[in-house]
Amino acid sequence: MKQISPIIALIILCCHPPVYAQRDFSGSEITKLVLLGTGNPNPSPEQSGCALALVVNDTPYIIDFGPGLVRKSAKLTPRYGGEIEGLETSRLKTAFLTHLHSDHTTGYPDLILTPWVMGRDKPLQVYGPEGIGSMTEHILMAYREDIRYRVYGDEPANNQGWRVNWHEIKHEGEIYRDTNVVVEAFPVIHGSWPNAWGFRFTTPDRVIVVSGDCKPSPKVIEYGAGADILVHEVYSQAGFETKSEEWKAYHRLHHTSTLELAEIAGKTNPGKVVLYHILFWGSSEAELLEEIQSGYKGKVIVGEDLDIF
Ligand SMILES: [Zn+2]
Ligand SMILES: [Zn+2]
Repeated sequence: MKQISPIIALIILCCHPPVYAQRDFSGSEITKLVLLGTGNPNPSPEQSGCALALVVNDTPYIIDFGPGLVRKSAKLTPRYGGEIEGLETSRLKTAFLTHLHSDHTTGYPDLILTPWVMGRDKPLQVYGPEGIGSMTEHILMAYREDIRYRVYGDEPANNQGWRVNWHEIKHEGEIYRDTNVVVEAFPVIHGSWPNAWGFRFTTPDRVIVVSGDCKPSPKVIEYGAGADILVHEVYSQAGFETKSEEWKAYHRLHHTSTLELAEIAGKTNPGKVVLYHILFWGSSEAELLEEIQSGYKGKVIVGEDLDIF
């Protein structure tokens, strides 16, 4: 075998691109918010489906179940070279869902089953809109042969971790509390969805407000008051201008433009605005920021998958 000279080896090493560029903005040892997926229904390889993980004192809380969430969260665990032990797959036990759109739920079977296969021995606790119960029961029914085979076949598997305790959110306000976090739900306007929620998470050292999918919604401003981080969905105004009238009408009723977000951010005044569920429609990050900053001078970050806040 030919030897590679040390100089050539060094050049190869230096020029090799990093596996991924990790950005950690958190500055907290207690609370870390991880963007597992900043995407939307478009299957962009760079943006996994919409999902977040809040990790408080190494206990994880998942928010939305876009496709890819389990693998993306594994990426940050020591097992795969990351540093957040709390995201170990078997520790994913508590989850919150904003609404039932498929780009937020096609990862749900993965969240139910994979952590169990990896050793979770307690039922998953899920808090979501009306209809999450029916969706859960149908998923379990669809996978009943897999569950039966794992529980009663030769494979060592526990008979608890595949189960789901689902809770339908019936009212605005506090829906969950433990020693790490208080979670409040608030209704947002997302077309004619009867149940679309945003969430406010209060941890020992951070307040994080998540918009879910919505057009500009007064409750985001109400619950966003005093937030350290406002995670908000957004679409490019320039891109919007290129859409057909039908699509314009749809997006106007369902989502929030950069210009509208500037107004919301101005009224909310959070420590920082983090963009997710981003519809670039051909715009660059700089153009997106420019549109927002034309009406808002605070800190705005274009979220990327695996960013930590
Ligand atoms: Zn969506
Ligand atoms: Zn939606």
